[in-house]
Formats: sequence, structure tokens, C-alpha cells
Amino acid sequence: MIRSDNHVHSRFSTDSEASMEEIIRQAKQKQLISVCFTDHMDYDFPKEYDKRETDEPPFVFDPKTYFHATEELQKTFPDFNIRTGVELGLKKEVLKKALKLTESYPFDFVIGSTHLVDNIDPYYPEFWEANGEEQGILRYYESTLENIKAGFDYDVYGHIDYILRYCPAVKAALKGKHPLDDFYTRTMSKYAEILREILSLLIKNGKGIEINTAGFKYGLGHPNPHETLISYYKELGGELISIGSDAHTPGHLGCDFQKIPRLLNATGFSYYTEFHGRKPVQVSLAEL
Ligand SMILES: [Zn+2]
Ligand SMILES: [Zn+2]
Repeated sequence: MIRSDNHVHSRFSTDSEASMEEIIRQAKQKQLISVCFTDHMDYDFPKEYDKRETDEPPFVFDPKTYFHATEELQKTFPDFNIRTGVELGLKKEVLKKALKLTESYPFDFVIGSTHLVDNIDPYYPEFWEANGEEQGILRYYESTLENIKAGFDYDVYGHIDYILRYCPAVKAALKGKHPLDDFYTRTMSKYAEILREILSLLIKNGKGIEINTAGFKYGLGHPNPHETLISYYKELGGELISIGSDAHTPGHLGCDFQKIPRLLNATGFSYYTEFHGRKPVQVSLAEL
């Protein structure tokens, strides 16, 4: 069993209400031994998506308060390994701010993620209305490639095929309870070239990918990214692979982690990666 969750949101993220203390209590109950908090830092997130009644910008937190909170929490739970990370929402316009953040604070782990495409959130139908499905998916991968080339400082790229969670074909299949196998087969071959380019560039830049198990929660039947991409990453020489639930509530901590050792073995990995002080630590599956 994988006992470390490396993608966890607390109330420091605009879209979570979870207290850090409750997260650690639940993590212990679920037999986890380590959590890395990766709260959202999406600089300049469009205000129109923020439904809260406040003037504070969405999806940013005060790093000083954040670090203080995790330090205090570690004192409360001395026998539990608490690490302090961040999930940075990448878009080229925020490069300077993002670099300043990672230079100024001693994060354990930085996930870089594409959440916006051309400053539009693909969670909303307007993105698909503006782009259409084929072009919408392609634009997401092109943006990811642009972000990788822009020179951000991060350790792994988050949920690489996240766009598939929201695309109309998947939503329709989930609604009608139709299997997604054909969709995945088509999509993986249609975008194979750009996906391989993304993965090759990540490997060349010494970056990892994550297995984000929230894909199971969304009903995809697969993590993000799909196993095919994990196999591509391995074939292309990738060695850094973190595991995270992307939990926004304590109940989702470690969700579907029992599926991961077999999935790692099937895609050629005998280990997974945790980051401590931005340094990768490989954990052998044989030791679990
Ligand atoms: Zn994310
Ligand atoms: Zn997340």
C-alpha cells in the first residue's frame, strides 16, 4: 500500500474547506504515514470564476501563514511526516511571480499544472463552445508545451491529461454510463505526437509527472494521466513519478491508491517518487 499522499488541498485553497488538522487525523486513520500539502497558487486567476463574496483574489494564499501552519501542525503530530508543497497554476504571464515564490520559500515539492487555456477554465462550457472538442483538447496540450518551454520552476507536471475530465465526449459517456475505452484509444492515438513531445521535454528538463488518482473519482476509470501516457513516459526514459489523490476533502485522501502498485508494475515502474526539500526520493514498491 502506498502510504504517502503527495497532492492534497486544504482550506488554503479557494476550492477547499478542509482544515489541515482534520486532514492529518484522517490520514492517520487511513494508515498513511506522510502527506504533502499542495495548495493552489494560481496567480491572476480570472475573477469571473470566483463565486465568493470577497475582494481577495482567488486561488492564492499567504505563504508565510501557510508555512507557519504546517510547522505548527508538525509539532502537533510529531510521528507523522508533513511536507509543505504547492500546486502552481502555470501560464506564461505569471512566470516572474511564480519564480519569485519558489525562490523565496523552502517548499518540499512543487507541482506545475495547466488549469487555464488562453485564460479560460475548461471546466466551463464556454471553453468548449469557443474551441470545439478536437481543438479544445489540442489547445490544452499546446498550452502545456508552452508552459514547459517558458522555464517555470517545478518538480512534476500535474495531471497531464486533466482536460479529458471536462471534454464533452467524456461528460456524455459518463452521463449515459457508456464505456470510455474507445474514446481513450482514439484520443491517445490522435494526440500521441504532442503528448510524446510534452513527455520528452519534461524528461529532458529533469521533470517528473504525477499519477493523479482523482481521475477514478471523476468516473474516468483511469488516473490522470491515463496508463498509456505513463507507459510513454517510462519508454522515453522518465524516472520521476509522484502519487497524489488531489483530495479537497479529508475523505478523499489516498483515494484509489490500492490500484497504483499494479498500475506502476504494468507500466514498467518498480518505485514511485516523493520529494523532500525539492529532492526526489525513490520509494521501492518492494518496500511497501
Ligand atoms: Zn490541478
Ligand atoms: Zn490539485
